[in-house]
Amino acid sequence: MGSPVTLLDCTIRMTGPEVAVIAGTEDPDERSAELAAVRSGTVGRVHSWELVTGLDGPGTRLTVFLSGCVLRCQYCHNPDTWRLSDGRLTTLDKVMDRIARRAAALKIMHGGVTLSGGEPLIQRPFVTNVLQRCKELGLHTTLDTSGYLGMRAEDELLDAVDLVLLDVKAGLPETYKTVTGRQLAPTLRFGRRLRDRGTPIWIRYVLVPGLTDGEEDVRIVADYAASLGEVVQRVEVLPFHQMGKNKWKALEIPYPLEHTMPPSDELVARVQETFRSRGLLTF
Ligand code: SF4
Repeated sequence: MGSPVTLLDCTIRMTGPEVAVIAGTEDPDERSAELAAVRSGTVGRVHSWELVTGLDGPGTRLTVFLSGCVLRCQYCHNPDTWRLSDGRLTTLDKVMDRIARRAAALKIMHGGVTLSGGEPLIQRPFVTNVLQRCKELGLHTTLDTSGYLGMRAEDELLDAVDLVLLDVKAGLPETYKTVTGRQLAPTLRFGRRLRDRGTPIWIRYVLVPGLTDGEEDVRIVADYAASLGEVVQRVEVLPFHQMGKNKWKALEIPYPLEHTMPPSDELVARVQETFRSRGLLTF
């Protein structure tokens, strides 16, 4: 039995094949009804929505940010999505109504729907349903994930994913642990599973001076990305920025990167070159 990860008024029990999302309601009837709906994926916790172009996948994306995450990345710019209760309990039908209204426009703009977070795989049944319903609408689907919970993504979920944005946050296990508080191995395993399935991947690497810019870390991630072969369609080196700083402050969480500067152009170019030298299309 794995240890529960407490997210203030919600608990994610890392046990067996299910990630049980236990909400904080006191009423036992409400609680069991909510649990049943969460398990069947007819409700989920949605933090926010965004319509973006040139980010989160090809074309114009309708990005749905789901709440809940088990990592605690030092550079997270969405700490306000960490707890499941940071999102509103929303029905699958409501979410799909909103997506369906934009489906025609998204197709014209060569885009689709991206599920992000937080970590979408925490809400696996809901995510599976949303992805499958998007595919029924003929929409391109993207899953933005750390891969940490990848082993919990069943094939039926991945069958409905056209692209995975896989955040590989460090190459050395010890750096990964420092950055996220968790282990690196599940992410690497998930990437290899995607390769074996032939699921397209965009690898993302957040470049933080003094944290993830070590040559060995970058080299290991580059070698790993290259080892996945042609499923890796591109690598995106994402320069650290301070846009999340105010959220940490508002939440009164000590922010370890408060004084960290964005990487220089030279550093970004050096890291991009490490990926390019493995034949990877890199931005
Ligand atoms: S995985 Fe994403 S949402 Fe979770 S802590 Fe890291 S950056 Fe934040």
